Amino acid sequence: MTDAHVLKKRRIGIMGGTFDPIHFGHLVVAEEAYSALRLEEVFFVPTGSPPHKAKTRVSMPEDRYTMTLLATLDNPHFRLSRIEIDRGGSSHTVDTIREMHHWYPPASVEFFFITGMDAVLDILSWKEPFALSRICRIVAAGRPGYSTSALDDLPPEIREAIVPLEIPLLAISSTEIRERVATERSIRYLVPWPVEHFIHKKALYFRHGR
Ligand code: NAP
Repeated sequence: MTDAHVLKKRRIGIMGGTFDPIHFGHLVVAEEAYSALRLEEVFFVPTGSPPHKAKTRVSMPEDRYTMTLLATLDNPHFRLSRIEIDRGGSSHTVDTIREMHHWYPPASVEFFFITGMDAVLDILSWKEPFALSRICRIVAAGRPGYSTSALDDLPPEIREAIVPLEIPLLAISSTEIRERVATERSIRYLVPWPVEHFIHKKALYFRHGR
């Protein structure tokens, strides 16, 4: 075995989000990150209890998990993790990456935490942002034409860990999908069809229930 073999680190994506619901924008982000960053696989990690959404109504973790499972089933390099749902308490990304290092020792892996640009711009309010930027790269998915200049206001140690990624389809948002369901408009072609069926079957997001 050559030195190059010994030193080569695995490149693993960790796609973090509330996924309420997951939609095609998220799937395109994960697929684009997989190919552009030459990742081995991408773990989808639905948040258990998002600390920054304490005052917002968020669907049950099991429902968000199930929708993420249905949406990722047919892609062989997408995997799904219950790590934040099973840990309980507030979900902090730094704790998640540290826990994943139990299975992937730091010397053997480079983690790419993938999430939305808006979320990344708020990173200084997260738990231990400096420590987080030392243990993974942070991939910030933005809409086309989205300016990355706001990233330059972040401290240099954090800015250096961030990889901006422009995604055309990210114009779809979970907020818009919830509003469409609440006002009985179609979400066909915005989410995978099993997710659409699940939303209707469980009457998620309907203003008055069903
Ligand atoms: P959010 O505030 O709901 O979303 C911010 C923006 O990013 C929205 O436009 C959202 O679009 C988009 N987005 C979210 N996840 C995305 C993804 N994986 N790929 C592309 N776009 C995405 O953010 P959130 O979903 O609650 O949080 C994002 C991630 O950051 C989660 O893993 C969360 O745990 C982590 N986070 C950690 C801390 C902490 O450690 N203390 C604090 C905040 C967030 P959609 O609404 O369409 O998804």
